[in-house]
Amino acid sequence: NSPGRETEQTLQELRGRLSGSLIEPQDPLYDDARAVWNGMVDVRPLAVARAGAVADIDAVLDAARRSGLALAVRGGGHNIAGHGTVKDGLVLDLGPLRRVKVDAGKGLVTVEPGATLADVDRATAEHGLAVPLGVISGTGVAGLTLGGGVGWLTRTYGLTLDNLDSADVVTAGGDHVHASSQKNSELFWGLRGGGGNFGVVSSFTFRAHPLPATPLGGNLFYRPQHWRNALMAVAAWTRNLPEAMNPIISFLVLPPEFGMGDEPWMVVGFAWASHDHQAGLNLVDQLRIQARPDEQEVGPTSWLDWQSAMDTVFPKGSRGYWKNVSFSRLDEEVVGVLLSFASELAWQGTGIDIHHLDGAFGRVPEGATAFPNRSARYWLNVYGFWRDPSEDERLTAFARRAYALMQPFSEHGEYVNFLGAELGQDADAALHAYGPEKYRRLVAIKNRYDPQNVFRYNHNILPTPA
Ligand code: FAD
Repeated sequence: NSPGRETEQTLQELRGRLSGSLIEPQDPLYDDARAVWNGMVDVRPLAVARAGAVADIDAVLDAARRSGLALAVRGGGHNIAGHGTVKDGLVLDLGPLRRVKVDAGKGLVTVEPGATLADVDRATAEHGLAVPLGVISGTGVAGLTLGGGVGWLTRTYGLTLDNLDSADVVTAGGDHVHASSQKNSELFWGLRGGGGNFGVVSSFTFRAHPLPATPLGGNLFYRPQHWRNALMAVAAWTRNLPEAMNPIISFLVLPPEFGMGDEPWMVVGFAWASHDHQAGLNLVDQLRIQARPDEQEVGPTSWLDWQSAMDTVFPKGSRGYWKNVSFSRLDEEVVGVLLSFASELAWQGTGIDIHHLDGAFGRVPEGATAFPNRSARYWLNVYGFWRDPSEDERLTAFARRAYALMQPFSEHGEYVNFLGAELGQDADAALHAYGPEKYRRLVAIKNRYDPQNVFRYNHNILPTPA
């Protein structure tokens, strides 16, 4: 299908204005440019505008506004629901804008909107600093931050969005707005959890924290016959854990390069964000005494290596449908339910993570950001990373079943970044994710900054019809 005359004119003007490039279906780069992380999202946009400078955001927004073409905004392209692309519309791909500037004196890090977690980690590590980010280094900082950002420093320093100091935003109307707790504070509230609903963030400034270059990290591996005892031991261990300890409990079959065979493992991974390694080891010993690991690797680890250690499990093009549940009870009954589906995992391509939260995450007052739930002690994520399309139905059904089984223990709120959904507007999903009170506040911000819903390829906050 070739575009109509008006659309062709829009594209022609855009080509002339962009300092980056406009990639269209006839371009040999098109298939690469249209692809997002989730290989299940096979969508053909009209064109992908690769930003070469911040001014390109204005050019693409203008083109979308004037033509009425659908617009998707892409940072790292890792969104599970595939919100970084759109059928027959324009994609604003911010991927090329990846500069990171560290002001070590002030502890502030300014990040362009296409930066990946690796870009930020590399820049901050040089100064002995870190921003709390996620666990796979190719993920985009933009989407991660706007939705939440859980990872190996969440209990110590909070979510990525808790460490956002300010953001520069280009609104649907083309205004350039600075948002912080001092200025445009309501927009700043909404940006911290409300996703890309309100504008295109052209720059993020984060607060960074001191971190040893080689913090203590490790993995304790358990075979299926030891899962119940190990998970009960984890439940006791996490009842009163110092905030420097950040555990994530995973269930999965690891890919061959890990040399762990083809059986499923329960892995208690942890990062200890303190200079005092011995204190961290003492803590880990408490768990190891209660549940002796079948295999283990514990010791000082290069932070950059740690932050990319699982990358090969999740290459671009993997297929995935993700679900999440927040909960606080981890007793025999809940452990029984968790293991009832975790123990089905005999295949490679689906994993379950339980993030133990609380700590600095839980100390942020519920109303301080749009992120949905601060009281949950645990956040479960059932995720996919399979390759074979013929597995789509079975493994999607597995994620749905696990989610359904956990519902009796689920607290309010869902984490939008761990949410798969069909493309397009999914206001019910957003209402459910944020809860009615936060959703109402988000709608008011949406009405002010994007009343026409130009930014709708996200977990969409529907503006009130005029
Ligand atoms: P994109 O698909 O580019 O964008 C995501 C959303 O943000 C879209 O709606 C997009 O329109 C919007 N957006 C992007 N850039 C901008 C911008 N500059 N301004 C306004 N809106 C914008 N999450 C965690 O919390 N912790 C993890 O450890 C973690 N690990 C992950 C590992 C993998 C392999 C994957 C696939 C995802 C992971 N996630 C994790 C989830 C991740 O946070 C989300 O997928 C997030 O949306 C990714 O952001 P992105 O910029 O890469 O995605």
